[in-house]
Amino acid sequence: MRVLLIQLDGKLPNIALMRIASHHRQLGDRCELRFGAQFEVGLWDEFGAVYGSAIFIKTRPLVARLFSVYPRAVVGGTGYDVRSTIESHGIKSRDLDYSLYPVFRQSIGFTQRGCRLRCPFCVVPEKEGRVRQERTVYEIWRGDPWPRELLLLDNDFFGQPRWRDRIREIRDGRFKVSFNQGINCRCLAEEAAEAIASVDYRDDSMQAKRIYTAWDSKADEAQVFAGLNRLVKHGVKPDHIMVYMLIGYWPGETHGDRDYRRQRLRDFGARPYPMPYVRTPELVGFQRWVVGAYDKRVPWSEWSASKFEPRRLGSPQRPELLPLLQ
Ligand code: SF4
Repeated sequence: MRVLLIQLDGKLPNIALMRIASHHRQLGDRCELRFGAQFEVGLWDEFGAVYGSAIFIKTRPLVARLFSVYPRAVVGGTGYDVRSTIESHGIKSRDLDYSLYPVFRQSIGFTQRGCRLRCPFCVVPEKEGRVRQERTVYEIWRGDPWPRELLLLDNDFFGQPRWRDRIREIRDGRFKVSFNQGINCRCLAEEAAEAIASVDYRDDSMQAKRIYTAWDSKADEAQVFAGLNRLVKHGVKPDHIMVYMLIGYWPGETHGDRDYRRQRLRDFGARPYPMPYVRTPELVGFQRWVVGAYDKRVPWSEWSASKFEPRRLGSPQRPELLPLLQ
């Protein structure tokens, strides 16, 4: 039987689709992976089963198009149905079929699932529930000859009781590790900060030194900066820390609220990364201003007057801004 797997969004290898592929290959089926709207290519193809995965809510229109082409498709993922599980569709395999992603060289997985906290804007508590152990580092790593590079999808690495064992495995095994979903700075104890500083933490391409965390509400300022200061105290450079900032979520939030968090993080030396909860032109423009580092040289008043477009910045009145366009 031919099986079509569709990764509707997301740039990382999709674990659910890798497990589905493993299940079907064990049955002798042939699996084919496509991305985005590529399911509309080759509509004459015949598939015995079709699966889709959508991580982001903004992908829902594409899910609707998928159902119009394959009405019996099985679709899951947090962007479509938070409660869906692949087990409920008969997929029991825990193995990951890496052959779907032939150029991907890292090893991907979870050491734990769930989260201790319940942030109101987050689907993790509903989808994953309470914290539980998942896999050890050596159960995630594919083994030689694959590089010792781990892409961890844990949402609360330090929430698991046995995190010290996992850190020891990473450190003693000389792994590079990307804590891709971020670590929670709000409850980062001294020992945990020291542990992070002791491992080779990386971005998801394993190229740059990077730790990801978040500052989602101004009310958390004291806890967030206590965590950031602990990281720096133990040797993490502020420039290694990328701080996601939820914007446009809290009722009554103003530009001043967003800008306060941005400036605090810039002053600290970290890398702010705004994440709009709703994609209004102003919030997306704020995101672009900060992620592109235009905020370091262009005042917000100038940026908003340019309608958040770098190519509108230079003008005979402000020739000093023209280099930003190059
Ligand atoms: S700490 Fe992170 S993963 Fe946990 S509930 Fe909050 S946003 Fe979600």
